[in-house]
Amino acid sequence: MTNPVTTIPIPAILEIKNGAVLELEPTLEKHGFKKVLLLFDDFTFHQYKTDIIHSFSHIEPDTAFLNDHPNVQGLITYAFSLPMYDVIIGVGGGALIDYGKYISFSRRIPYISAPTSASNDGFASSNCSLIIDGKKTTVPAKVPYGIVADLDIIQQAPDKFILAGIGDLMSNITALYDWEFEEERGFGDVNAFASMLSKKAVNSFIRTPMNDIKHPTFLKELISSLTMGGAATVISGSSAPISGSEHLISHALDHYAEHPQMHGIQVGMAAYIMAHVQNHRAERMQKVFTRTGFFEYVKTLDIKKSNVQYAIEKSPLMKPNRHTFLHEDWYRKKALLLLDNDEILNDVFI
Ligand SMILES: [Zn+2]
Repeated sequence: MTNPVTTIPIPAILEIKNGAVLELEPTLEKHGFKKVLLLFDDFTFHQYKTDIIHSFSHIEPDTAFLNDHPNVQGLITYAFSLPMYDVIIGVGGGALIDYGKYISFSRRIPYISAPTSASNDGFASSNCSLIIDGKKTTVPAKVPYGIVADLDIIQQAPDKFILAGIGDLMSNITALYDWEFEEERGFGDVNAFASMLSKKAVNSFIRTPMNDIKHPTFLKELISSLTMGGAATVISGSSAPISGSEHLISHALDHYAEHPQMHGIQVGMAAYIMAHVQNHRAERMQKVFTRTGFFEYVKTLDIKKSNVQYAIEKSPLMKPNRHTFLHEDWYRKKALLLLDNDEILNDVFI
């Protein structure tokens, strides 16, 4: 039997520009949304709520904010305490975007993510990261109905958020190589279209001038590439096109390290390690991380080498059903050896 042509849910709204969050109303009207909930985190509630509300003239959106770190049960309880809305718009950082996605998903309400930072691909992906039993866990949800990324807001976020986004995007390179490795070893199939999309996304980003990571052109490239990566996961029905061995190291750090760092920062460092282990595009990875100041920032975090070591050892346990490079003893040893001998790694970790 031949594979049928598939139908894929992709965001119906995609606005990546300066001032995007102040032009929500015409977009919502075009899509027939009247009853609207704007969901904020503590920061966006104080910083942007008033301006956003004033930008509406016909629709009167409700507003709410979530400022603590609710667990899944808390989120579900909250979701079902809400009246029915036509659409929920999450305006906030990575955590708020994920909470909003999960709330909308459990109520089957269309969701628009309006991220205040480009720190990872969560604003465009179908998964969300939630706290279960005190630990960060990836939970399936639905791809957002819309993405509204306001470059004015994203530009104002501290550099580290942009650097984290760069780390998460660069990991497409190692993730794709893991995916091919997995297929060669007889575990699972690579979806050619998802793979192409993820590869094109990161390659297009790599060609962007990197002298100013706050330049609108750079940010637009970063965000659209992260968005394409998110779409790739919807096509393949798995996170494989954007998440491989490097994400396993990051998940293990989330589990075991005393002080886990931002997702994209951990993933970026792990991608640098894995590019060397895979012996594939390591030089390019190094150039991007040097030019953007990624390594310089990581150096300020005092990440313990022993934590990374332990995370590499434990990495296959994070996803036992996959078969990345790190699922094989030999490559884990190679990663550990690199950790001891690589000049950059010795410089950035303590
Ligand atoms: Zn990621």
